[in-house]
Amino acid sequence: MKSKKKEICKQVKQIYDWLDAEIKSLNADCCVCGKCCDFDSFGHKLFITSPELYYFYENLKPLKKMPAGVCPYMENGKCTARDFRFTGCRIFFCKADDEKINDLSEQAIRKFKGLCNEYNFPYSYMELSKALNEY
Ligand code: SF4
Ligand code: SF4
Repeated sequence: MKSKKKEICKQVKQIYDWLDAEIKSLNADCCVCGKCCDFDSFGHKLFITSPELYYFYENLKPLKKMPAGVCPYMENGKCTARDFRFTGCRIFFCKADDEKINDLSEQAIRKFKGLCNEYNFPYSYMELSKALNEY
């Protein structure tokens, strides 16, 4: 089980590396203001997959709860979980082309589903507050 855990984390990291390289080619403009991590005031939601949550947990345990609509990993406008942040965190740019973002997001989700199939890991797709509060 230990090596399976390690392998799943390694694969998630590889997917994030692929994603980060793809995102660079979008040339999206972001000033890293952190406003989109305050979901209620920004008016959007972040959905994450189960292998991502697992990777996040393995690197940052214990997880913080999310009692309000702001990500608990945002402090003073900065992400304190940057290296382990989710696909939705990496991919969202308020000034980017939605179609390109959606396409990349679907590709990432297919990769996470494939990882789950390969390692017989239960796949789920959940909203961040539910994921953090119920893990
Ligand atoms: S993990 Fe970081 S980037 Fe993602 S929502 Fe939380 S603070 Fe924002
Ligand atoms: S995507 Fe937009 S709201 Fe989010 S950190 Fe970048 S500039 Fe700020």
